[in-house]
Amino acid sequence: MNIRKQQPQGLITIGQRAEYMRQGNASAVLRAVLAYGPVSRAEIARHTGLSAPSVTKLTSSLIEAGLLGELAPVEPTQGRPRVPLRVDPERTVALGVHIGLLRTTFGLVALDGRILAEREIAHPRAAAELTPRRIAAQAAEGVRAFLDERLGDRRLVGTGVSIGGWVDGARGLVVAHGPLGWQNVPLLEELAGKLPGPLVLEQTVRAIARAELWFGAGREVDDFALVFIGNVLGAAIVVDRTVHRGPGAAAGAIEHLLATDDPSVRCPQCGSGCLSASAGDLALIAEARAAGLLEPTPRGDTGPSLDLERLVAAARPAGSGSGDEGAQALLRRRARRAGRAIATMVDLLNPSRVVLAGGILVAEEYLDDLRAEVALRSHRGAAVAEDIVPAVFGARTLVRSSAVPVLERVITEPFTSLGLL
Ligand SMILES: [Zn+2]
Repeated sequence: MNIRKQQPQGLITIGQRAEYMRQGNASAVLRAVLAYGPVSRAEIARHTGLSAPSVTKLTSSLIEAGLLGELAPVEPTQGRPRVPLRVDPERTVALGVHIGLLRTTFGLVALDGRILAEREIAHPRAAAELTPRRIAAQAAEGVRAFLDERLGDRRLVGTGVSIGGWVDGARGLVVAHGPLGWQNVPLLEELAGKLPGPLVLEQTVRAIARAELWFGAGREVDDFALVFIGNVLGAAIVVDRTVHRGPGAAAGAIEHLLATDDPSVRCPQCGSGCLSASAGDLALIAEARAAGLLEPTPRGDTGPSLDLERLVAAARPAGSGSGDEGAQALLRRRARRAGRAIATMVDLLNPSRVVLAGGILVAEEYLDDLRAEVALRSHRGAAVAEDIVPAVFGARTLVRSSAVPVLERVITEPFTSLGLL
């Protein structure tokens, strides 16, 4: 049991406790506006169960804090005009920074999850130059120039940083990042003082799950599994609106779940036909090359994502042609294999939804094959298919998802996070 996490009941006064309760109610109001806005005060009262006078008081505090804004009154056919409220889309922003293999992408994200501006900087090509210090310095320089140009008079509430690999965000640590060659890198320490604080670190797939939780496919459910199948593979398990991490923040490793019995597929690490060896973007591209469906990568190309798009384009019917059958068969088989591994997760966790993300969404016409395979394998049967949905935010999600852990704090603790309590 983590004693330090418990509220020190004896150490706060009755007045403070009332303030925290008021903050909890203000957060409920903010969440109702995010989920259903623009909404009137009467509708907020209905959604939150708070009394009309409480909603009136809380909304004026939130308007004063610059978190909510009023729209022009709507004249109803009878009764008093209603003033719809929405989250102020410009005033409060977070900086999102995603550190990838080839580039660092960053931008400003509004409290309603919209990306207001973004920019990217390419990393050095030589592997030896991809040190945490170099990447951090480069990001800091780029961000400084970007904020000078784009922040204006907005209120910046902090910086969220996301990165792939095995990440222990609570300790600010990148435990291991294979492609960058990083091991036990104290990334937050490296970035402290270089980027606007407070700083929050999150693993990429979990950050995507948190973006979907607040602004996307997870808005109406309290639990879901986000499954990322792309250049990398990973899952984030959301229970009671919280991402599960477990000891060492090691949860969500799905690479070696069984995906095929095909004896020709053998993972060099686990020795079986796992998801990584048979259904990741890299495995798919390698198979397409071996089958002669893709040209060798042109010089200067930036990686497998373009190859994936080429393969999907070849499979698609165009003009009078019906599309390349070999490419279609590969994409269908990849979807089926992914479905088999997902069926294992579904039976184990029984999530309200499976939210798919990553390169698998580029070939969206094969998602029904994936759903059919899950339905075939899962003990839940056909009913499960409709709970498998694509992530709302597509490829342009990295900046948004990086910023969400910072925005999440404003949504859940609006007064504390802004220094008003
Ligand atoms: Zn494996």
